[in-house]
Amino acid sequence: MSAAPVAARRISARVEGVVQGVGFRPFVFRLAEELALGGFVRNDTRGVVLEVEGEPGAVERFLAALAERAPPLARVERVTVRELAPEGARDFAIAHSDAGGAPGALVSADSATCADCLAELHDPADRRYRYPFVNCTNCGPRFTIVRGVPYDRPLTTMAGFAMCPACQAEYDDPRDRRFHAQPNACPACGPRARLLGGAGGESVDAVAGAAALLRDGAIVAVKGLGGYHLACRADHEEAVAALRSRKHREDRPFALMARDLAGGRELVELTPAHEELLTSPARPIVLAARRAGARVAGAVAPGLGELGVMLPYSPLHHLLLAGAGGPLVLTSGNVSDEPIAFRDEDALERLAPIADAFLVHDRPIHTRTDDSVARVAAGRPLVLRRSRGLVPEALALPVACARPLLACGAELKSTFCLAKGARAWLGHHIGDLRNADTLASFTEGIAHFEALFAVAPEVVAHDLHPEYLSTAYALEREGVRLVGVQHHHAHLAACLAEHGQAGPAVGAIYDGTGHGSDGTAWGGELLAGDLRGFERAGHLLAVRLPGGDRAVREPWRMACAWLVAACGPEPALPRMLAGAIPPERWEAVARMAETGFAAPLTTSMGRLFDAVAALCGLRTTVSYEGQAAIELEALADATEPGAYALPLEDAPDGAFVLDARVTIREVLADLERGATPAVMSARFHRAVAGATAGACARAAEAAGTDRAVLSGGVFQNRLLLERTAAELEASGLSVLAPERVPPNDGGIAYGQAAIAAASG
Ligand code: ZN
Ligand code: ZN
Ligand code: FE
Repeated sequence: MSAAPVAARRISARVEGVVQGVGFRPFVFRLAEELALGGFVRNDTRGVVLEVEGEPGAVERFLAALAERAPPLARVERVTVRELAPEGARDFAIAHSDAGGAPGALVSADSATCADCLAELHDPADRRYRYPFVNCTNCGPRFTIVRGVPYDRPLTTMAGFAMCPACQAEYDDPRDRRFHAQPNACPACGPRARLLGGAGGESVDAVAGAAALLRDGAIVAVKGLGGYHLACRADHEEAVAALRSRKHREDRPFALMARDLAGGRELVELTPAHEELLTSPARPIVLAARRAGARVAGAVAPGLGELGVMLPYSPLHHLLLAGAGGPLVLTSGNVSDEPIAFRDEDALERLAPIADAFLVHDRPIHTRTDDSVARVAAGRPLVLRRSRGLVPEALALPVACARPLLACGAELKSTFCLAKGARAWLGHHIGDLRNADTLASFTEGIAHFEALFAVAPEVVAHDLHPEYLSTAYALEREGVRLVGVQHHHAHLAACLAEHGQAGPAVGAIYDGTGHGSDGTAWGGELLAGDLRGFERAGHLLAVRLPGGDRAVREPWRMACAWLVAACGPEPALPRMLAGAIPPERWEAVARMAETGFAAPLTTSMGRLFDAVAALCGLRTTVSYEGQAAIELEALADATEPGAYALPLEDAPDGAFVLDARVTIREVLADLERGATPAVMSARFHRAVAGATAGACARAAEAAGTDRAVLSGGVFQNRLLLERTAAELEASGLSVLAPERVPPNDGGIAYGQAAIAAASG
């Protein structure tokens, strides 16, 4: 060995961000080799540490390339460089990781098939030609197959597959794209797809067989990354209608999968922001305006102007879509409100009455994970369901927690959140906890995350609702400090926190309902506060909720309650509802709204939208919460410039009240004049947007802030969100709206975590 060149430079660099489990060390290795640098790289608790030594220009180029050429799934947030004395190193090595490192950092989200793997999938000369499970360090399953930590093959659902020599050689070679790719597999050694049912028994190419069935109009249950889907051709009227009827009472729109971006453009109108979301490695379902003439069966999304479209995210999907001859419906594999099936025996049993055939495989799914859902509002992404592809990526907390914590979320769109220091792991969408299977997923999910991220919660945050099962779970945790968090404060905090802010701000927080500080059902709230506390600056006028939960399922009841509030007792049955509601039921509900019998007070904005939707003649009953409001938004005539009045009145307690009785009277007058529902919907949206902006401006002035947050499930409504934000900005306020954390109750757990962390 010769001595080190006199001019050699040696540095150490610490790289922070998403740099573990994403092929960062082999990337550093290849880069060092390319530039003829010696040294080493290894993982530690905070990320990646490395030392390189060699010609100073090469070291400079190395540092520049570290962030610029990082692997696709990596995100370099910070590089700290220190000068060292040269040691004469010529070789470069990947060193073993420190024991006791942060195990969680190694588990990343499932990621869509990369371009290199796709090329192999379609290359007849490649040994993975048409192999439905091709993956590499830059793509493939992660979170859904992880059983425990460290993230190593034996602790994934790939444990049962021993790598063949060819795969093992790739896995061991730092120069190979599959170096340490835990799910690495090939047709000789990896998982296999099988087609069950359908005519002709098991075919040789299961995916081609399934595609042929789909072309013929069959419904096929397809095992995916996070669970089973039910698939059929999107343009096949009978198949889609059969799927809808076999799924029972199911009104929710079906998601679609298009073969590629061009196929997506034939279904929906896409802006660059939509296309960026569609092609992101997370591959969410993206809601976008249905394209005129899109060849989609009527039963796909009845009554809606938008379609939910996604692109293939696994090699199996790529093969299926290429063979199916057109876009597919790809909806969750369940019956009505049950959770999506993900265990094979369970799926075969539950989906047998729905599916004509099953496309299955033998790689188990460890964690049930639904498709994520997003839309675009004001040119920014708005995640509505945060799950497959996005979980378990960590979110930052604006105030680090002194002790590890767990936040238990709400109940209907349930999620949980674990946090340690300034990092928070918001769990996957779990769903309605009142379902026994879902509740089990909730408790198992928490235990799984505690192990993955080595968090032993000492603080547990929960909703104030005494009957939420998430609250009951929190109260049963022993030896922890409990922090009760008001529901709408949590919505406000979630939005502040995802934007890295601790407050102060005002917030218009509109949702179905949440438990108020005074024990009543809140839901149309104007709050002023920060992560540590809040004041209720104003709210929607309280009206009766006749029949409690029944009023959620039957929006006509809210129309009746608002008419009683606006026009007095014994309101006439509006013409729009006349055929649908028997007069004696209308009168009974009107009496409940007058007397308050079995009709608690609520300030819910979601229920006001229901009432107006019912008055517009949209629907008298719904099969899921918010359905009427979604259809009301879809209906609105965007060219209508008018707005109803929605005045701001002072209440005796110093708060102000949005008096929607005036609005309802104007709706009635419009009905008498024969205005169209499209015009009425537009005028109503403008009324709420204008009143909200005015209320926020007033609350902001009183609170001495110029920042306004818009959140809560009602702000999934793009029309309302964009109008309100535009009016707020015109009045000089800066607007924070949810982007990565859902505005609905899927974001509550993260908001609770941010508040509990800030409470010390
Ligand atoms: Zn790949
Ligand atoms: Zn192999
Ligand atoms: Fe809520």
